Amino acid sequence: MRIGILALQGGYNAHAMAVRDLGHSALEIREELQLPHIDGLILPGGESTAQLKLIARFGLESPLREFVQSKKPVLSTCAGLILCAKEVVGPSQRSFGWLDVCVHRNAWGRQLDSFEGYADNEDLPLCFIRAPRITSVGLKTKVLATLNNEAIFVQEENVFGTTFHPELTSDRRVHQMVFGTA
Ligand code: GLN
Repeated sequence: MRIGILALQGGYNAHAMAVRDLGHSALEIREELQLPHIDGLILPGGESTAQLKLIARFGLESPLREFVQSKKPVLSTCAGLILCAKEVVGPSQRSFGWLDVCVHRNAWGRQLDSFEGYADNEDLPLCFIRAPRITSVGLKTKVLATLNNEAIFVQEENVFGTTFHPELTSDRRVHQMVFGTA
C-alpha cells in the first residue's frame, strides 16, 4: 500500500520508517493533489495548534475530511489524535470530530513528564511525549489498548488514534493493525 503521512509539522519521518518496515511505501503529504494517490493516511504527533494553523493555511481540512470519509485506514498519533477528536479540553481547541473521543491536551504533564511503559493488555511498548489523555470514549469507539485501565489506543471504523508514539519504538504492531503487512 502507499501510505501518506501528513508532513506539515512534527514527527512524520519515524512513521515513514515504520510503514516501510511493513513493506509499504511512504509518501510525505503536503498538498491536496497527493491525497488521491494514497491508500492510507497517518496524522503524526507534534504540536496540534501549529498543525491546525498549517492545515488551514494550505486548505487541507476538507480534502483530509474527504479522505477520512472514503473509509481508507487512518492512524492518528498524539497531536494527530487531538486533531481528530470530537472534543479537546485543557485548553479547548478546535478539532475535526473524526473520532468520537474527548481528549485532554498535555494531561500527563510537561516535556519532563514524558515517559515509557507497557500497555495493560499484551506487552506493547509505549512512549508518551507531552501526551494527551482520552477522558471519554463514544459508544461506537472501540478501545484497543489501555494503560492502568485508561484508553490509549482507540478505533472508530477506519480511524485509529493513539495517545502514545508507536513509531518511536521498534514494535510495529500498531501500524500493522491499521495498514496490514504488504
Ligand atoms: N502536546 C502536544 C499537543 O497538544 C502533543 C504532543 C505530541 O504530539 N507528542 O499538540
